[in-house]
Amino acid sequence: MEYPGNIFVVAAPSGAGKSSLVKALMELDSAVQPSVSHTTRPPRGQEKHGREYFFTSAAEFDAMVAADGFVEWAHVHGHRYGTSKKAVEERVAQGADVLLEIDFQGALQIRKTFANAVLIFILPPSWEELRSRLERRGEDAPDVIDLRLANAAEEMAQASQFDFVIINELFERALFDLKAIVHAQRLRYVAQRRARADTFAALNIS
Ligand code: GDP
Ligand code: ADP
Ligand code: 5GP
Repeated sequence: MEYPGNIFVVAAPSGAGKSSLVKALMELDSAVQPSVSHTTRPPRGQEKHGREYFFTSAAEFDAMVAADGFVEWAHVHGHRYGTSKKAVEERVAQGADVLLEIDFQGALQIRKTFANAVLIFILPPSWEELRSRLERRGEDAPDVIDLRLANAAEEMAQASQFDFVIINELFERALFDLKAIVHAQRLRYVAQRRARADTFAALNIS
């Protein structure tokens, strides 16, 4: 599918710092828009319907799957998560940069539909740090943390299928790396030709 905007897909094992990095990027760069996913997981403390997720019953999720409403969906940590067509297609068609924070199964599905999607994997610096971030975040019960850690090895084994890897050790460094990837994408020839059509025309460049 041809589209003028960029699709950035960020995946990571739970606790690697994906949401914190993406939130910081969005605060710095209003041209990157989040894709808000649907999930059957219950909301955490501060989460708001329509902001972090559309919190959806199993029946509503089934109905959206049946109506072909998702560009991708997957089972993750015992719940279902999906990216609606609405969250992505209209916006990239209008030239917006859309960022999807989804699991690796979803990321690989997105690449099949949108061949130019940019896949970014975020790794923690160590197992010890991953566990301590999940504990420090204080949002998940101990059994949920154990499940997320148990799934992390399988998830991290998929990093080789991604275009870019960021190791989130020092937060500011990792944010710098993420900004660099987004920026580089906007400097690609086709993107520059579109964004700076007047300059290219004035310089007689096709
Ligand atoms: P390299 O680290 O030598 O490969 O060179 P870079 O050009 O990638 O970055 C030079 C240094 O500046 C690195 O230590 C970066 O982490 C740092 N740096 C550049 N931009 C930023 C920024 O926005 N925030 C922070 N904290 N550090 C930055
Ligand atoms: P994810 O979205 O990948 O599950 P979060 O963004 O919720 O991860 O981060 C997990 C926890 O680790 C949060 O409490 C967050 O504040 C913290 N964190 C994120 N990045 C770093 C970092 N570079 N150093 C230390 N703590 C971090
Ligand atoms: P959390 O419950 O911590 O917010 O997210 C758990 C996992 O589900 C993370 O790996 C996250 O990236 C993934 N996820 C969130 N939204 C989606 C989505 O729309 N599709 C897919 N495939 N995974 C998602």
